[in-house]
Amino acid sequence: MAGMAAGAQAEVLPATASAQAAQAQLQAWRRDLHQHPELGGQETRTAAIVAGHLRALGLTPRTGIAGTGVAAVLKGGKPGPRLLIRADMDALPVAEETGLPFASTVRSSYRGQPVGVMHACGHDAHVAILMGVAQALVARKDTLPGEVMFVFQPSEEGPADPNEDFGAHRMLAEGLLNDFKPDAAFGLHVWAGLQVGQVGYKAGPLLASADEWLLTIDGKQTHGSRPWEGVDPITVGAQVLLGTQSMIARQINIAQTPVVLTAGQFNSGVRFNIIPDQANLVGTLRTFDPAVREDVIARFDRIASDYAHAAGATATLKVINQAPATINDVALAQRLRPALERAAGAANVVDMPLQTIAEDFSHFANTVPGFYFLVGATSEGIDPAKAPANHSPKFLLDEAALVNGMAAMLQVTTEFLEAGAH
Ligand SMILES: [Zn+2]
Ligand SMILES: [Zn+2]
Repeated sequence: MAGMAAGAQAEVLPATASAQAAQAQLQAWRRDLHQHPELGGQETRTAAIVAGHLRALGLTPRTGIAGTGVAAVLKGGKPGPRLLIRADMDALPVAEETGLPFASTVRSSYRGQPVGVMHACGHDAHVAILMGVAQALVARKDTLPGEVMFVFQPSEEGPADPNEDFGAHRMLAEGLLNDFKPDAAFGLHVWAGLQVGQVGYKAGPLLASADEWLLTIDGKQTHGSRPWEGVDPITVGAQVLLGTQSMIARQINIAQTPVVLTAGQFNSGVRFNIIPDQANLVGTLRTFDPAVREDVIARFDRIASDYAHAAGATATLKVINQAPATINDVALAQRLRPALERAAGAANVVDMPLQTIAEDFSHFANTVPGFYFLVGATSEGIDPAKAPANHSPKFLLDEAALVNGMAAMLQVTTEFLEAGAH
């Protein structure tokens, strides 16, 4: 499991050749991690493997950051810029249905419910790829300009307790960058929506912000046959929900930037002929612009309180931010496109449309210029539009994505470092 000994016998290869040479090792790491997935905040085995690998490479990893996070800095032999590269380590409460020989059979509990655990988002691949990148960069460290911090992050998918700080934000809050100020941060994600061999990115906003919103409507309980004697929170909740959809269609410039506001839960009452005291709605808000996000939340709050007021009810809106929008630094993205093309082939670099999913890499990209790209994971012969998406119990990673992801990350990294800090 441990990497090759650093230095001496390691031949310095171009990025793609380095990644191809690491193919068997990447696959072994990834299959082992895949078979032993760990939920966010519980990545102790994964973190131990990562730290052991980094130590075997001659690095001195810091462990226990934000719970189970690991980070190590490689100092190149020449002066140059500082770069942070991040991989996320956590799995999801999903029972695997891929039928792979190394499929997960791990069971755990999540928010009080018994669950299967699966690397259904492909973070096993991210860990393997960054272990491979670290190994390849250590092999060429004597001629490497600058410094690289390898960050293995826990809990990208969010904490078990929604009130807890987690993941990238918590690593930064715990002082990850106190002694290391990067000039840029890179990250990648294996992606079922792209064919294996393809690499996707977009300058500017790529992924949405994600907020969980919780709306409570307090009315007054009464018999269902005499609504005038109470205040019906269900009707108010329905009006507020429709009001939010009208607000997005009529008040937001969706030609400038899209917004999605979805309710995933609407809970109220216990019986057909009793109007209850309270209704509870829970949902998610997605935006691509911090100012638009603030504006939509303010309008949502106004709609909720005004509809409630009109009915004699009260409304309380709570919004919990899970991740800001992931916005690629435009100059950096333009500068690195040729490197992606060299690694993947020009015809395989895809200009992505906006994706309404979210990613907490955005916290790094909000701290320093960020570059985040997607690595195709769906095998030839399967339509990526129909392939089981990330988070599906049938999410299937074509393992060629390991080599492709490592080659692309290594190429953008070495070109960034060799070009110097701009
Ligand atoms: Zn995910
Ligand atoms: Zn993910």
